[in-house]
Amino acid sequence: MVSDERRKLGRVTVRTSAPPPVGETELARKRRARRMARALAEAHPDAHCELNHDGPLQLAVATILSAQCTDQRVNEVTPKLFARYPSAADYAGADRAELEEMIKPTGFFRNKADALIKLGQALVERYGGEVPGRMADLVTLPGIGRKTANVILGNAFGVPGITVDTHFARLVHRWAWTAETDPVKIEHAVGALIERREWTMLSHRVIFHGRRVCHARKPACGACSLARWCPAYGVGPTDPQVAVKLLKGPRAGELAALALSTAATPAQVPVS
Ligand code: SF4
Repeated sequence: MVSDERRKLGRVTVRTSAPPPVGETELARKRRARRMARALAEAHPDAHCELNHDGPLQLAVATILSAQCTDQRVNEVTPKLFARYPSAADYAGADRAELEEMIKPTGFFRNKADALIKLGQALVERYGGEVPGRMADLVTLPGIGRKTANVILGNAFGVPGITVDTHFARLVHRWAWTAETDPVKIEHAVGALIERREWTMLSHRVIFHGRRVCHARKPACGACSLARWCPAYGVGPTDPQVAVKLLKGPRAGELAALALSTAATPAQVPVS
């Protein structure tokens, strides 16, 4: 059973962890996590970065705009924005009022415009107008924290990275992959469970699962293909007929069928 107690940490709100299966060793947890990672890959073959972009600069801009905003809304704004500001120098020299107006639908537009202009200036002054491909450099840039840096590294540079957003933190706690609550510690704890080459895609798949199946308030436990390894099974409806109605996204039918075909007694499968 999962406690409903919530903790607010940095910008990530997480529920406290589900207890791990009784007597689970570290090795067993790693095996369970890897089985769940494979099940996620099967469940979400369409997982990808949902921010439309072409290249690291566009991805950095889109990620900054995605704070407190849906990816869909960002994707509505970025085509015109990217056409108007194709380079870092264009952001550096942007007319603030015009830039604010263009990004207004994404919310917090004054702060975001400020971040984009400062980002452009820093890139021009320090990196020849190019987005650097190293974590150590990225996190020194205005508007770019470790989460954003991992998104950029993983999706624009092919450097494996784990992105700990609210979905990711909620799910890995439900799965008792880690009890850590600090996003950076969560990143390291999950990194120790899953092969490095899988990190970027794992992040997308976990986020897809959080959006489509394992919702914050009413997860679709009875229609979840990860149920057999999930110690939080039962936090949402377990009746398949009720649960399938909670599935979201264009692949809801496939997710329901997959869950039925992989059904086993939840959290009972030996993992050692
Ligand atoms: S069984 Fe329930 S809590 Fe566990 S991953 Fe699936 S939907 Fe989430």
